[in-house]
Amino acid sequence: MIYKRSSALFVEAQKVIPGGVNSPVRAFKAVGGDPIFVKEAKGAYLYDEDGNKLIDYINSWGPMILGHAHPAVVEAVVEKARKGTSFGMPTEIETKIAELAVSMVPNIDKIRFVNSGTEACMSAVRLARGYTKRDKIIKFAGCYHGHSDSFLIQAGSGAVTFGSPNSPGVTEGTAKDTLLARYNDLENVRQIVEANEGEIACIIIEPVAGNMGCIPPHTGFLEGLRTLCDTHGILLIFDEVMTGFRLAKGGAQERFGIAADIVTFGKVIGGGLPVGAFAAREEIMNHLAPLGPVYQAGTLSGNPLAMAAGLTMLTLLDQEQEIFDRLEEKTAYLHKGIAEVLERHQIIHTINRLGSMISVHFAEGKVVDFETAAAANNDTFKKFFHGLLEEGVYIAPSAFETWFITDALSYEDLDATIQAIEVVAQKL
Ligand SMILES: *Cc1c(COP(=O)(O)O)cnc(C)c1O
Repeated sequence: MIYKRSSALFVEAQKVIPGGVNSPVRAFKAVGGDPIFVKEAKGAYLYDEDGNKLIDYINSWGPMILGHAHPAVVEAVVEKARKGTSFGMPTEIETKIAELAVSMVPNIDKIRFVNSGTEACMSAVRLARGYTKRDKIIKFAGCYHGHSDSFLIQAGSGAVTFGSPNSPGVTEGTAKDTLLARYNDLENVRQIVEANEGEIACIIIEPVAGNMGCIPPHTGFLEGLRTLCDTHGILLIFDEVMTGFRLAKGGAQERFGIAADIVTFGKVIGGGLPVGAFAAREEIMNHLAPLGPVYQAGTLSGNPLAMAAGLTMLTLLDQEQEIFDRLEEKTAYLHKGIAEVLERHQIIHTINRLGSMISVHFAEGKVVDFETAAAANNDTFKKFFHGLLEEGVYIAPSAFETWFITDALSYEDLDATIQAIEVVAQKL
């Protein structure tokens, strides 16, 4: 496989864009080499600037759950664009997608649309703070909720009680209001809650973690958080930016039968356009401006093109429950295939999967939290990544990412992927 043009484009990009990318995860920093420049994509495949065809397991990091350039979504966007691309005034389509989202997702009465998952999570936390009149929040090490200041706090020894900023630019004042807990460790959360009685506004969590690879919650963990929140007057925020409209129509809330107080969305909800959203029951959402005092706004929020893509995507998912069954079956098939190959070649690994989220960790034991995810062998991952690329399979250039399975993948694609892993495994 040749990457001449991608490399040349990367050289040009680096002159005018920091690191040559508009989001760091697109760089190949963790795996080495130059990022691939995409020319176009259709269904399950990417076509890069050098003319290579790749089976895509990133799918824009989640949104393209039905594959790239889905005809109905493209059609809806093109048709809308002809009628004007932004007004900064209410449009009917915003109510349509809101009604549909509210009908698909449990425990929400009202929803507000924003432009990214970051914005959704940032606004959800502000709303939780405004509603509870408390300042502190609990987040889990290894969970990602976008790049707003309160969330750029990572675990480190001694940082469990008072978070320390892990990005310059996040002030100590902000960091100290974010308390860090261990994923899948209810006792740890309980201790933090009890040590900060009456001060915690919300616990925000990825109900299935997807930003340290895929890490499903232990049985009882989410239930335990729900009970803890109820006991201490804390709001439970499910960050469903990744799991929403993916694990089920109603996301993780439906999948696990647990009610969150505020839910955030992104990725799938925009059908590939920049959309995020946050939602809750009426009593909480009515605290938002212009009804209530908690301010939140956006010039391009509810943008007609974005709403057209999102509404079409959600309508397709709402109409066909079988999509979720198919996604699950395909992911299970891939899981079995990968496991069989890696076991036969005696490569130490752990595969985590829930629904259509799956990740391969080159780790010895179980991967249940950030620490165990971080303990995996990154050298093996690098070889695995570049080996697969050479075979025409594109997974995320980081061991801390979930693979996103799409309905556009055929069983032939999955077999080709498993065959590629066979070739790569021989060299690991
Ligand atoms: C991607 C992601 C975000 C951030 O969304 P952006 O649209 O990239 O700002 C937040 N939370 C989770 C769980 C995500 O996976």
